[in-house]
Amino acid sequence: MAIVEPLPPTSEGRRRLGIRSPATRESVGEILVAGQADVEAVIAKARDAQREWARVPVAERSHIVRGAIDVLVEKREEVAKTIIGETGKTKLECLIMEVLPSCDYINFWCGRAVKELSDEKRKLHGYLRPYKKLLMHYRPLGVVGIITPWNGPFSLAMNPTVQAILAGNAVVLKPSEVAPYSGDWAVQLLLEAGVPEGVVQTLHGDGETGAALVRGGVQKIAFTGSVRTGKKIAAACAEQLIPYTLELGGKDAMIVCEDADLERAAGGAVFNSMINSGHVCMGVERVYVVETVADEFEEHVRKIVSELRYGSGDDVDVGSVFWDRQLPIIERHIEDAKAKGAEIVIGGESDTRDGLFYKPTFVRNVNHSMELMQEETFGPIVSVMRVADEEEAIRLANDSQYGLSGSVWTSNIHKGIEIAKRLETGSVVINDASMAYGAPEAPFGGMKDSGVGQVNGLGGLRGYTHQQPIFINRWAVKKERVWYPHTAKTIEEIDGMIRFIYGSALKKLGFFS
Ligand code: NAD
Repeated sequence: MAIVEPLPPTSEGRRRLGIRSPATRESVGEILVAGQADVEAVIAKARDAQREWARVPVAERSHIVRGAIDVLVEKREEVAKTIIGETGKTKLECLIMEVLPSCDYINFWCGRAVKELSDEKRKLHGYLRPYKKLLMHYRPLGVVGIITPWNGPFSLAMNPTVQAILAGNAVVLKPSEVAPYSGDWAVQLLLEAGVPEGVVQTLHGDGETGAALVRGGVQKIAFTGSVRTGKKIAAACAEQLIPYTLELGGKDAMIVCEDADLERAAGGAVFNSMINSGHVCMGVERVYVVETVADEFEEHVRKIVSELRYGSGDDVDVGSVFWDRQLPIIERHIEDAKAKGAEIVIGGESDTRDGLFYKPTFVRNVNHSMELMQEETFGPIVSVMRVADEEEAIRLANDSQYGLSGSVWTSNIHKGIEIAKRLETGSVVINDASMAYGAPEAPFGGMKDSGVGQVNGLGGLRGYTHQQPIFINRWAVKKERVWYPHTAKTIEEIDGMIRFIYGSALKKLGFFS
């Protein structure tokens, strides 16, 4: 039984998908796949609603949106039940990856909205300053299409949606077909908080719906998902000349230096490889440990993994694999690694008797000839490779098509920072991992195949605006000096100005910069 399976179409010929819990295989509902006409209708409604919403002062928008925190806190059990039902993640994972960060994102962005989005007077530099004033206006884009994956189906929908609507846009959210109702909650909570109807809407469906949304006449696409889909979206956005951000897959490396606290590093390696059943874009997928401390590190890892409980319910550490399409990928990577000489210390097989589970797995002796160290595995697996020294670890960490995040584990923070700067990744964490997206003040985005553009960060809200400079003349003079006719006097004046400012020591004093 597939987790997402086509059902017979409706009498009007509409496609239907049945959705099941991966942990229990029980049905959690069914969705009608939105087609072209639905997408057009939803975007048209969004466009109407956006005109009014953009007129609401930012402070008021922020006040309304912040109300969603109260609704979320009140309804957190219901929300968690939906998310756990659709994904099979554990209760704690649901709280720390979905509910808590969503409260935090809403609070954070509402707190920054007035500062980031209000009109702002900006001083012009140099010779322009005496003549012109500059007012920055952060103009909403219009309708933003947000397309999300199945691994963080609530928080990865809530974070961009809140940012986009605070900036005065309307949002059409297309959640993953694997976890559609978790996406619904993000929209529902905002509506219950008082966001006007039409400003946030959900469109259900699969890739066909997503593709129709991208081509439906929106003004921006914020996409989180796989590299393969990301490339299609980039091409479609390029054709239409609309902006987009792509938050894509990762193969994050963890470097364990000789001077690391090995007990902590081992705990971090296991947790950050296994959390969310390993379905974390910035989760640890590759561990490089310096040879001299590898025995001790691996022994800590073995002990921790051997005590992990997997399954469904509140008394487990690792939940189910969220989607049956992921399971063969995990199995293939492990089989390939085994065939090429890796040692499976613990786990290494699926358990599909009751639900969709992969046993928490510890693999050692891996190398870069293996898919396990090259492609995104997205499973509950700690893969450990020994390296001669930190130089080799850095070289191997960078030997990847991905560049999302990474981590360095050392007791020497200065050294950790120096290693971090040499990693070809969007972010780096020292002595922890997988947390970069959780700090909204930090820009988040991958290098290489891991994405295009950055989200979050101070100024992140402005990513959902067109930053429109408005220039204002200071003086009501009848004509500017360089307007027609050209005269020898004007030429001499401008030439004199060039010599005065840029041909003298004045420029070094910073007077005109
Ligand atoms: P996916 O690309 O298969 O699907 C993502 C979304 O895109 C879904 O809603 C899907 O229905 C939709 N979609 C599919 N085809 C489409 C098309 N042609 N046009 C428009 N939309 C389309 O990804 P997934 O399997 O749902 O998610 C897992 C991937 O997401 C992993 O690679 C993971 O690393 C990545 N991810 C990245 C981040 C990040 O912030 N960088 C965060 C979470 C997940």
